[in-house]
Amino acid sequence: MPEAVLQRAAAEMLDWHGSGMGVMEMSHRGKEFGAICAQAEADLRALLAVPEYFHVLFMQGGGLGENAIVPMNLSRGGNVDFVITGSWSAKSQKEAQRYCQSRIAASNADGQHTWLPAAASWQLSGDASYVHLCSNETIHGVEFQELPDLAALGSKSPLVIDFSSHVASRPVDWNRVGLAFGGAQKNLGPAGLTLVIVREDLLGHALEICPSAFNYRIVADNKSMYNTPPTWAIYVAGLTFQWLRQQTEGGLTGVAAMEKRNIAKARLLYDFIDASPFYENRVAADCRSRMNVPFFLKDESRNEAFLAGAREAGLLQLKGHKSVGGMRASIYNAMPLEGVQALVGYMREFEQSHA
Ligand code: PMP
Repeated sequence: MPEAVLQRAAAEMLDWHGSGMGVMEMSHRGKEFGAICAQAEADLRALLAVPEYFHVLFMQGGGLGENAIVPMNLSRGGNVDFVITGSWSAKSQKEAQRYCQSRIAASNADGQHTWLPAAASWQLSGDASYVHLCSNETIHGVEFQELPDLAALGSKSPLVIDFSSHVASRPVDWNRVGLAFGGAQKNLGPAGLTLVIVREDLLGHALEICPSAFNYRIVADNKSMYNTPPTWAIYVAGLTFQWLRQQTEGGLTGVAAMEKRNIAKARLLYDFIDASPFYENRVAADCRSRMNVPFFLKDESRNEAFLAGAREAGLLQLKGHKSVGGMRASIYNAMPLEGVQALVGYMREFEQSHA
């Protein structure tokens, strides 16, 4: 979370704009929260340049909830193609099996999820209701640097992307996307809010079993207020959208500024790792995530010492995901360049004293 956002939320916590109420105490149907929610949507639309024929839905259930909610709304019970590039897309494909024929069109599983299969090699079904991919695999640290142009591949299917862990870190090409979903808890705000951005023409085909509260048509028609939305999370995400819109970097603003900053942060860390005989990153250079950098000490017997020293230096949450091991630096939007410089400084020092 950007510190400025936390400070503002703290300052407004007991009394939002002189209303005599904190946001958590407001009715979601009152005019105050209505204004907060509308502003959050407007700021997000401006930030991500969301075209008007897309709905912005503020939902709950997280990324894993969407693994069921998307097929219930979009699959029509037919074929759906999945591109497997890491644990999150693999989870999505498994969950979808309950609602449709979820096929694997491409997979990088044989390479331990360290590269991305080229779009031209995907085995797409002609009649897929949609094609799903995870545009940034948080655990394996692989990121699509460009979204596939399915139409150019001869496919008429809309593209669904799980952009949970890199939303707002780079622009989205909405010409190539039918639906994007993501939990807010990495780049946008507190856990509890799930963002869905969906093209109007994809709504209205939910399976009969789809819960009303998860039916995109109903959620859209009720402006995300069919049931009580996660009000506090929407409010804090809204503050983050404002903060993001105000960011500038090298003459750029908003997401373009964040992208420039994120490229510089990622380059600093990857360049250091690649130049060091002590550490390694195993992801193909052109598929590396700007947000999640998994890395290994070549001598893994030093892992515990590395983590203990890092904690002492104030560098937290560096232990890799249990399915991959090693280390992982998640350098989300709110992490400043100085944070990555501090990490690289510590890594250099640890290497010099242990090599
Ligand atoms: N997709 C991706 C890419 C993720 O990183 C995560 C969470 N780490 C999820 C889905 C699952 O999200 P949630 O815990 O919000 O269900």
